[in-house]
Amino acid sequence: MTVFKCSDYGFECDFKSEGEVEQVIEEFRIHTEEEHGIEYSKEVIMQMLLRKQGL
Ligand SMILES: [Zn+2]
Repeated sequence: MTVFKCSDYGFECDFKSEGEVEQVIEEFRIHTEEEHGIEYSKEVIMQMLLRKQGL
């Protein structure tokens, strides 16, 4: 299971998403666009996840 927390990426935000990678990426994309006005591509979010997991 993948966990994605906004606060881990420098946002002052309580948003957290967990579940399947595809689902987490989609939820985070929608969240950052709506709440932070930032559009991340799927690939960028995948890189963020991988970097955090040290892969
Ligand atoms: Zn956020």
